Amino acid sequence: MTEPTTPDRVIDHNNECVGCGAHFSEPCHPSCPFETGHFGPAVLLRAAAGQLTQHPAGVGYNISATLFATAVELVGGSAAGAASDEAAAALADFLVASSGGKAEAIRDQIVYRHGLFTDLAEIAQSMYAAAARHDGIEFNADDFGEFTA
Ligand SMILES: [Zn+2]
Repeated sequence: MTEPTTPDRVIDHNNECVGCGAHFSEPCHPSCPFETGHFGPAVLLRAAAGQLTQHPAGVGYNISATLFATAVELVGGSAAGAASDEAAAALADFLVASSGGKAEAIRDQIVYRHGLFTDLAEIAQSMYAAAARHDGIEFNADDFGEFTA
């Protein structure tokens, strides 16, 4: 096993840390995952949103590959599979819930389809919304603002 590492913090489109929301000019909160080294699905989803354009899928983007590559950076290769699966499941939960449950039948494919057929900014926003839902906090579209890759 490799030594646990604390990767450089990831700054989002709002110039804020994806772990704790601190502005990039400010230090992270002590409880920030980039301080503690404990990365849950929510921070992984937010960190991956800014990496989508690095994983084009012919049409759209490969969200699962983006989550996996981001997880490798944050938690290391040996834990990346489980961590990215957990984040993808949180996104699937959000997307199924957003459909009013109608998408339950395509839960296994919903993240894949979402990546192919949804606008980049909308995918990123859904990843933040899924992260908020996973953490039991209200998603605020105004705070999310304009996503630019
Ligand atoms: Zn932070």
